[in-house]
Amino acid sequence: MELKLKYEKNFKHLEGIIKEQQGNYDLEMIRKAFELCVSAHKGQYRKSSEEFYFHPYSVAKIIVQLGMDSESIAAALLHDVVEDTDIQLEQIKSMFGADVALIVDGVTKIGRIQYVSREQQQAESLRKMLIAMGKDIRVIIIKLADRLHNMRTIDSLPDQKQRDKALETIEVFAPIAHRLGIRSIKDELEDLAIKHLDPIAYHEIEGLLAAKQDFRESTFNSIRARIEERLGHDMPGVNFALQSRVKSIPGIYRKMFIQGKDFDEIYDVYALRIITDTVTDCYNVLGIMHDMFRPIPNRFKDYISTPKPNMYQSLHTTVIGREAVPFEIQIRTFDMHHTAEFGIAAHWKYKEGITKNNKQMEDRLAWIRQILEADEDASDLIRTIKIDLSQEDVFAVTPKGDVINLPAGSTVIDFAFAIHSAVGVRMIGAKVDGKIVQINHVVKTGEVIEILTTNAAGHGPSRDWLNIAVTSSAKAKIRSWFKKERREENIETGRTALETELRRNSVVLPEKEMRELLEETAKKQKCPNLEELYASIGYGGILLEKLVPKIKEDYVKLIKANEKPSIEEYIQKHVVRTPEGVVIEGIDNCLVKLSKCCAPLPGDDIIGFITRGHGVSVHKRDCVNVPVNIAEADEPSRWIKAYWADSGQQNFTSTLQISAIDRDGLLAEVTNVLFNMRVGLHAINGRAIKGGNCAISVTVSAASVEHLKSIIAKLQKLEGVYSVERINQ
Ligand code: MN
Repeated sequence: MELKLKYEKNFKHLEGIIKEQQGNYDLEMIRKAFELCVSAHKGQYRKSSEEFYFHPYSVAKIIVQLGMDSESIAAALLHDVVEDTDIQLEQIKSMFGADVALIVDGVTKIGRIQYVSREQQQAESLRKMLIAMGKDIRVIIIKLADRLHNMRTIDSLPDQKQRDKALETIEVFAPIAHRLGIRSIKDELEDLAIKHLDPIAYHEIEGLLAAKQDFRESTFNSIRARIEERLGHDMPGVNFALQSRVKSIPGIYRKMFIQGKDFDEIYDVYALRIITDTVTDCYNVLGIMHDMFRPIPNRFKDYISTPKPNMYQSLHTTVIGREAVPFEIQIRTFDMHHTAEFGIAAHWKYKEGITKNNKQMEDRLAWIRQILEADEDASDLIRTIKIDLSQEDVFAVTPKGDVINLPAGSTVIDFAFAIHSAVGVRMIGAKVDGKIVQINHVVKTGEVIEILTTNAAGHGPSRDWLNIAVTSSAKAKIRSWFKKERREENIETGRTALETELRRNSVVLPEKEMRELLEETAKKQKCPNLEELYASIGYGGILLEKLVPKIKEDYVKLIKANEKPSIEEYIQKHVVRTPEGVVIEGIDNCLVKLSKCCAPLPGDDIIGFITRGHGVSVHKRDCVNVPVNIAEADEPSRWIKAYWADSGQQNFTSTLQISAIDRDGLLAEVTNVLFNMRVGLHAINGRAIKGGNCAISVTVSAASVEHLKSIIAKLQKLEGVYSVERINQ
């Protein structure tokens, strides 16, 4: 494909900066990627109305300057192609190989992670990003370059969007760049973010720096000259590079507006950097500097013997010169300097790449794994990352001389757990520089800390330690100890704490309902039972301040649902009582009638049947029309519970068939029996049947089935009567 002149010029420029880097590059592949980038994005424009391809092209330039390899440069050129054009990942794979496709895929996926300010979601997106970068670190390096170019061109976005992006940059992307040691990107990201988040403070600092610029330049020029002369004299033949640097605006911003320091109290606003060949040279230079200038006590840090977690190495010391201006001197080798600027990206620069047995790289990525593996609530994650990534480190020493590296603000508890969990859980106190200290003693660099332990049974961490410890790893270890060792205690503590908290929130229910509510809660929290829920609360795996609002929500729903009828009302409403005194539960107003096939009477064992369209018919339980085994009936759910109301004062009509030898006066005697038994007589019929017999039917009202039975018994005693049967009309 013939590139238009403009594109050709841009490609030549890219090629130019690639050639400035030493190393082997696959220029043919990079050119192919550039051509695809231009053609795929043809007709697309950015908000700034510049042609879209200019964005991936700029990202690729940043990637080149970091010293990344050809695959990374190609992937940078193609990083928006899959998301924004018709090009498929498969095409990229066949044109550029699996590596480039994998990186482009990773960047595309990270791009789809929605950044939401809700803590939980924010943590979730970070976690996803970390997982993506765990696969191929080049993915995140390109993402950082992508974000850097977007931040450089952020002015074309609406104000609110600018602030959102800036916040996301300072909370997520800059810390990642910092952790990966890519100082050049981290500094610029932070600078651009602060500029948009707090433009007033930003310009104030700019002003302060500008006001002192002349003074600074003249001071530093004279200091530099003296150092050069002295080093040339004392260390002849050794290579040196001298740089002066001004602290970044975000760095000053943090000290002024977050730590509340005055501009003049910041000692390291100005720094001199001396870069030399070997580590020995570094320490020699340090000796000479301390001879030339007065060092400020406690301001010396040896990051050469103990590198920062992001592998940064240097000697830092703060001194005061003749001009009474304190300034920092950083001393390092050229290699260290390179690592300080490019961090993880330096591995490509040196063409080491990332290999499995690269110990340094393993160390550097270990924190990602730790964060991912930490068994923590997702919103703890964001706090962890903020603490672990943003703070300066302190270094303290065990009595044996092992250096323990901790984030600033760590206590002796963190120190103990950093040595080993077994030390932490057996700790009963600590000595710092030989003196017993409180357990919340904050560790300072250079302290010699001895952890006092016991082997006695029954000792262990106290729950307060969770509030005193700062590092996520110490907290996780304390929690896991409680989880394992103190189950009974956890259940009790958890239950008491939950009950207290629920009362405080006026979540009050009768015991049974409360238990049901909490069991439901346990299920939602993925606890197999209520005890497990209590235990988790007890050891701190579930936080009450997060749980209780959820329970309260369910509680309010429950109350609302029950608000209309009270329990009694509820039952009454769902009960039908027929005029005959049959009670049927669980249905609202509906027609109920006693079935004619068996004509149940009070006292009979009865059952209801929901008919189709004719309400409920009530049968005797032993009626032939009632299945013996309801569960095996065709439609078991149609059979419903029915019983007689207690009162039972109403009368029920029933017809009795009396068979007897026909004789005079029988009818009168029957009537007499019924009268004497206070039975309501509704109808009476008698007729003679063949063989000198007669049949008399009487329709009577009986008060109950017992009553009816006794009527029958009386009738049967009459002379000539051989059967009395209850018949169905
Ligand atoms: Mn992009």
